[in-house]
Amino acid sequence: MEALERVVHCLDRAHESSFRVKAFVQALDVVRSLPPEEVERRAATRRLQDLPGIGASTAKVIEEALAGEVPTYLVQLEADTQVPLSDAARTYRQALKGDCHLHSRWSDGGATIDAMARTAAGLGHEYMVLTDHSARLTVAHGLDRERLLAQLDEVAEINERVAPFRVLTGMEVDILLDGDLDLDDDLLARLDVVVASVHSKLKMPAFEMTARMVRAVRSPHVDILGHCTGRMIDKRPPSTFDAHAVFAACAESHTAVEINCRPERLDPPPELVRLAIAEGCWFSIDSDAHATGQLEWQPLGCERAAECDVPIERIINTRSADDLLAWTADTAAR
Ligand SMILES: [Zn+2]
Ligand SMILES: [Zn+2]
Repeated sequence: MEALERVVHCLDRAHESSFRVKAFVQALDVVRSLPPEEVERRAATRRLQDLPGIGASTAKVIEEALAGEVPTYLVQLEADTQVPLSDAARTYRQALKGDCHLHSRWSDGGATIDAMARTAAGLGHEYMVLTDHSARLTVAHGLDRERLLAQLDEVAEINERVAPFRVLTGMEVDILLDGDLDLDDDLLARLDVVVASVHSKLKMPAFEMTARMVRAVRSPHVDILGHCTGRMIDKRPPSTFDAHAVFAACAESHTAVEINCRPERLDPPPELVRLAIAEGCWFSIDSDAHATGQLEWQPLGCERAAECDVPIERIINTRSADDLLAWTADTAAR
C-alpha cells in the first residue's frame, strides 16, 4: 500500500496525466477495501488482475512490494520525477520553512490533512498552512462556516500527533465581485493565515478588477494575495488590472504577493514579480498543492524568485511559524 501511495506521490510531483494517477489511486482504493490476507493470496497466485480496477502495471507494483522489493516501476519513477532545482533557486528553497497555500480532501485536494502534514514535514518544513477553499467555490467543495469549524477541531487534534511540526489554520477565501471576502469576519480573525484569491469573473474590466483586488488586499484579515492574475498557461489569459495600484495596496497593508508554484499557473509572471519588488511588497512562495506530490513544486516558484531576484528577507515563509504569526498579527493590527 505504501508503494502505491509513493507511486501516486511521484506521479503527482511530475504533473503526470490524471489518467495515470487515477489508475493507481483506484488500485489503492481496491487494496484498502480488501483484507490484507486476500491481497497477499491473490498476489502470490497472480490473480490481482481479476479484481476490477487493477491492471498489469498496478498488479506488478503490488506483487513486488509484497515480495519485499522496491517495485521496479517505483525505482524508475523516483529517478525520473525529481523536480529540478538550479543553484540560484536552491538558496531560496533552503530558506523556506513552510508552505502557506495547500488543500486537503476537505475541499478539492486528493490527500488527507495528515498525509499532507507528514509529507511537508518530510520535505524539511516546520509548518504548513492549510488553506482549503471557501464556500462560494462549490465546484471545489468549498467549506462553509460549519465545516470550517469542524476542520479547526480536526487540525487541533492533528497538531497533537504531528508536533513539533505545525499545521497552521487558514483558508483560501474567494474574493467576491465587489472585493468582499467569502467568510465571516469572526472566522477570518480566528484563522492564522488567510489567502485571498479571485476565482470568478476573471475577465471583468480592468478598473473593476483593480477596485475588487485593492479592496480585498486592504482587508486587515488578508495576509496573502493568491495567484494574482488567475492565468492558466496556454489555456486562460491573465486577468487585467492596474498592477501598480494593487501591489502598492499590498505593500501598504502588509499583504504578501504569492508566487504560485503550480506549473500551469506560475503566477505572477516575471514582469509582475519585478513590479511587486519595486513597490516594496512581501512575497510568499507557495505550492498550492492538491496532492502530496505537489508539495514538491516549491522549487518552481523558487526558480521564478531567483530569476527576478526577490529579496529573501521579503519572503514571509522563510520565517519560523512564530515569526510568521507575529507578522500576520501585525498585519491584522493595521
Ligand atoms: Zn486558487
Ligand atoms: Zn489553492
